[in-house]
Amino acid sequence: MSHDPNCVFCKIVQGAIPSRKVYEDEEIFVFHDIHPWAPVHFLMIPKDHIASMAQVEPAHAGLLGRMMALAPKLAAEQGCNPYPQGGFRIVVNTGAEGGQEVHHLHIHVMGGPRPWLKG
Ligand code: AMP
Ligand code: ZN
Repeated sequence: MSHDPNCVFCKIVQGAIPSRKVYEDEEIFVFHDIHPWAPVHFLMIPKDHIASMAQVEPAHAGLLGRMMALAPKLAAEQGCNPYPQGGFRIVVNTGAEGGQEVHHLHIHVMGGPRPWLKG
């Protein structure tokens, strides 16, 4: 497991910066976004420091698959309404032109009744 000592999300994984935890297992950590765009807005991150989707390799397929497969369950638990009237949005900003501000791979999961602040 690699951690970047200057990475905010690595610090969250390690408990050095507080977060509102949604879920945790051996390889995945999930917490509420500090500035939510929607009534439900949480971030899913690998505990391992992967800077962005641009660094993802075939060896990460299992991990990313498990994260994506976990998203609907957590979305429902956090209050996203059922598909198709409800649903949720998944966003992975990648690099400066992709709108990424925190350089530790994270999956935004947003949902809940409209209107939203953004998105
Ligand atoms: P991005 O622009 O995709 O890199 O998104 C980074 C997200 O991380 C933003 O939505 C921020 O609100 C969120 N964020 C930054 N710092 C924290 C923190 N300490 N706890 C929770 N969310 C954070
Ligand atoms: Zn990190």
